[in-house]
Amino acid sequence: MSTLEDFRRETRAWLEANCPASMRTGMPDGELVWGGRTVEFKTEDQRLWFERMRDKGWFCPDWPAEYGGGGLTPEQNAVLESELRRLRCRPPQINLGIWMLGPVILEFGSEEQKRELLPPMARGEIRWCQGFSEPNAGSDLASLKTSAVDAGDHFVVNGTKIWTSYGDKSDWMYMLVRTNPDVPKQQGISLLVVDMSSPGIEARPIDLISGKSSFCQVFFDNVKVPKRQLIGPLNGGWTLAKALLQHERRAMSKFGEFSLPTHFDLLSIAGTYLPAQAASSPADVALRQRAYAMAMDEMAYSLTAQRMGEEARARRNVSGLMSIMKLVHSEQEKDKFEVLVDVLGHRALGWEGDAFEPQELALTKAWLGSFAQTIAGGSSEVQLNVIAKRVLELPEGNSGKQGK
Ligand SMILES: Cc1cc2nc3c(=O)[nH]c(=O)nc-3n(C[C@H](O)[C@H](O)[C@H](O)COP(=O)(O)OP(=O)(O)OC[C@H]3O[C@@H](n4cnc5c(N)ncnc54)[C@H](O)[C@@H]3O)c2cc1C
Repeated sequence: MSTLEDFRRETRAWLEANCPASMRTGMPDGELVWGGRTVEFKTEDQRLWFERMRDKGWFCPDWPAEYGGGGLTPEQNAVLESELRRLRCRPPQINLGIWMLGPVILEFGSEEQKRELLPPMARGEIRWCQGFSEPNAGSDLASLKTSAVDAGDHFVVNGTKIWTSYGDKSDWMYMLVRTNPDVPKQQGISLLVVDMSSPGIEARPIDLISGKSSFCQVFFDNVKVPKRQLIGPLNGGWTLAKALLQHERRAMSKFGEFSLPTHFDLLSIAGTYLPAQAASSPADVALRQRAYAMAMDEMAYSLTAQRMGEEARARRNVSGLMSIMKLVHSEQEKDKFEVLVDVLGHRALGWEGDAFEPQELALTKAWLGSFAQTIAGGSSEVQLNVIAKRVLELPEGNSGKQGK
């Protein structure tokens, strides 16, 4: 029987032989690969890396092999993660299904649902979007109104979802619906999975200030959803939603590590744009100090993230820590871009044109985009409420709302 050290050796050798060199660099802007029916690759290496990891079952290494996963033990999974980090391998694909819905189906789905839904997810064949938020149900998610009415062998869904990232590009949606309007709000919600090509669904893109938008508003007009696509018990969706949001928080703090453009290295940009020490004004010195303080915070975050990974692998409860990490990471990223914009000064005022370097134009857009991360997956204010209640066990405030 092979030991963990054998597994590490084999894994290292396999990754070195199979992860193309160009997939071992930071993630350039716009080079994320999204799985799905119409998966797109910008380079041949992206395709190779995707296909090799898929065939190995390593899109979801710790899922059982019978559902398309890699069947690794938690300890082997930890070794794989550390070897991927060591080689700086890019994620071969991004897939909300694998990160958020898959673990919920593994925990709450029926055997039939596991066999039907998990293997295509594990091969990256379906691109998933999340239909949780509605125009009047964001932080106060349980107020959602999109209804699913029992019609025999199927539900009929009516209503609208908003801020659905990539709603227009996704194959399937997992969504929360109201299945009983006559009980306290958390008790009348169910979780459905829906094929986005079903008749009656329309995804309308929404523009954003950063110039790049993944957002859609999705409309449901008498959409038929077979009953076998209900995950978990009827009206029991709130429990599943809370579990899913825990996975989302972990994914969000992880996602930020490689989704934000990595070529914005704080200290090297400060070195380029701020005058040499001797010529520094007091304002430049103060700016340099902010940049160093920020870089130290980033390092502290990264060490804490490693610690959280180790605690999770030791099966300690890290759910409170996940909210803290999500809060800290998104706020830190926002602060980092604030510092960078100050370091660039007027060079950060460009939107397009030859007068600015491509990196300067990209940085301005990334700065505007950084605000979104403090809202996505539950806003910072709501994370603070969650931390106050669940981690610090403080008494409830006046809002009385259960946040996203
Ligand atoms: C980049 C991005 C991607 C997203 N992707 C998706 C997606 O794919 N699917 C999806 O369903 N949703 C998605 N969302 C929506 C996101 O989940 C919501 O925007 C978020 O939950 C906040 O809801 P809201 O926008 O309705 O703001 P509101 O809930 O109206 O909040 C407005 C302000 O009030 C504050 N606030 C609200 N309630 C409280 C309270 N109780 N205590 C203190 N402050 C409070 C909030 O923090 C915020 O500052 C995405 C959002 C972003 C930014």
